[in-house]
Amino acid sequence: MECDKAYDLLVERRYGHLQGSVRDELTSHLERCEACGIEATSLDELASTLDRWQLPDPPPRLAALAVKRSFNQPRHPTAAEARPARVFVPLGLGLAAAALSMILVAGSVPRLSIPALPLGLIGAVWAAMYGAAFAQALHRELRMRALARTALLGAGLVVLAAPVLSIPSVVDTCRHFFAGARGSFGLNLLLFVAGGLYTGIPIFVSAATCGRALETTSVIRGGSHAGVLFAILIAPAVYIQCAALALGLVATWMAGSLLAAVAGPTAGIWVAARIAARQA
Ligand SMILES: [Zn+2]
Repeated sequence: MECDKAYDLLVERRYGHLQGSVRDELTSHLERCEACGIEATSLDELASTLDRWQLPDPPPRLAALAVKRSFNQPRHPTAAEARPARVFVPLGLGLAAAALSMILVAGSVPRLSIPALPLGLIGAVWAAMYGAAFAQALHRELRMRALARTALLGAGLVVLAAPVLSIPSVVDTCRHFFAGARGSFGLNLLLFVAGGLYTGIPIFVSAATCGRALETTSVIRGGSHAGVLFAILIAPAVYIQCAALALGLVATWMAGSLLAAVAGPTAGIWVAARIAARQA
């Protein structure tokens, strides 16, 4: 049984409406899949809280009042009407996130060498990428949601840090530290580490905050998926910031930051799972 199907059946399971092979399949899925198990447990907890809840005495004339109100109430949208909302909400969020990212990132580069048209194209691609990520972040399935939210929060932290910690400013600082010795091993090592910290810290924090559900299958697989999505989301920021830099320095930086982008979330999920296990 797939997670989507299992998710749809959780309420019926709670009220004992499932029978035969469907019930058995769901039971064995819940034993195997921690994500759906967590959803089932929280649903059970919610339902038993509601069962214990005492209904207060209704005020007099409530029925008459409710009927009168219901005539004035807007009706709920049908599935077909709700579909545009599922497209436009992530698209709107994507556009807003891309606009904010462009202002923060492009605004933080002192000698921006990208012309207006390519910059506009980068912005459009960025909006589409953010939009797709937001659509996943609102997904019904827990794993998809956790994956997209981890990547989005990590990318958000990188973008928000751009005015203070842009790649050109960090590379400049590293270069000053080594007094311009461009080919030196020390400078390259420092750039490798700095690149790693630049992406590793935000995605580590983000995975520790909202990546817990990714632990369910395999920490390394969940972590690397989140890391790849994160790397894709911050690629426009990296390109805008690196376009003006010397290629040799950027390559070392990129190697460090890509490695950390994939390793950071794995470490974050692992730490969050250990903390949760200790509290339990
Ligand atoms: Zn599942």
